[in-house]
Amino acid sequence: MSIKSKENSMPIYVAIDMTTKKRLFWCLCLLLVFVVWYVFFGAGRSEQYAAMKQSMDEYETLLRETREQILDRLKMCQRDCQHWDPEAPVIYAVTPTYARPVQKAELTRLSQTLMHVSNLHWIVIEDAVKKSSLVENLLARTNLNHTHLFVQTPVPYRRKGSPRGVEQRNAALRWLRKNKTMNDKGVVYFADDDNSYSLQVFDEMRYTKEVSVWPVGLVGGLMVEKPILNLTTGKVVGWNSAWRPDRPFPIDMAGFAISLQHILKKSKAYFAYNVSGGFQESHILQQLTVRENLEPKADNCTQVLVWHTRTEGPRLTEENKLIARGIHSDVGLEV
Ligand code: UDP
Ligand code: MN
Repeated sequence: MSIKSKENSMPIYVAIDMTTKKRLFWCLCLLLVFVVWYVFFGAGRSEQYAAMKQSMDEYETLLRETREQILDRLKMCQRDCQHWDPEAPVIYAVTPTYARPVQKAELTRLSQTLMHVSNLHWIVIEDAVKKSSLVENLLARTNLNHTHLFVQTPVPYRRKGSPRGVEQRNAALRWLRKNKTMNDKGVVYFADDDNSYSLQVFDEMRYTKEVSVWPVGLVGGLMVEKPILNLTTGKVVGWNSAWRPDRPFPIDMAGFAISLQHILKKSKAYFAYNVSGGFQESHILQQLTVRENLEPKADNCTQVLVWHTRTEGPRLTEENKLIARGIHSDVGLEV
């Protein structure tokens, strides 16, 4: 570009030559093209980018939440999942249960005890015409290995004084005999839903050869009902029971366990209605063993590791008044 001298005093732009003008023109064109491109495409792109960024942010949040959920689940598993040793015998805890105001409380308590027991399979049998959502949901939440069955006690035996849990325990025996083989190592324990169990009692029963026995607290009108041993031979020689001591096996359902193989071997052994409440234990044990063969556990039957506790029925006087007016305190709530 040639700039004119001051004397000529011509405006500087006039002095710009043609080549420069052309260049300037093309530069302006280019700028215009860019502006047009930006307005029509660039701005659109940036919207696209913004949308992409938003979805990336959403994915990031989702991933973070998923990660938190996985960590929560892991934590739950560490708390709830039982240790499973494929070599150790499985404890099949058989629990009859029936609908009543305290049912969820009982099953929650028992399930949370069982969560601490390794190699455990919980067989829950509802005394009902179908599975209830209460029990189903509870089992789903526990993470326990379980089998959920149901069978209703026949009408003639639904009276007070009839033996309880007969039909349900038999259903569990049938299930075991159908689904297990002599190669399966295990032990069967009749764990009613209202008793109190020490974790130790499960350790004691796990290696039962045929039938093992131990004391039970708070039963038969005594602080404890227990087998009496000859400490030289280590055999059961009698019982301390006070209520109907003439029972062939004066022992509570919570005081013995049977090896799975023995249950399979003695395939005809069942509970029965034609024997009354306190004689169910004797009835089944007579089909399975003789006193001399019992295996005493719990430090030669010197420890109480299970209690025949019974939950007091709740007083629902106010609830009943509400119900009379067509109202329930537990609408939409599972209690
Ligand atoms: N049970 C049942 N249906 C009934 C009554 C009881 O399935 O109609 C169950 C109950 O939930 C428990 C077992 O049978 O697991 C023994 O019943 P309960 O504890 O009432 O008898 P207990 O030996 O304490 O007299
Ligand atoms: Mn009970």
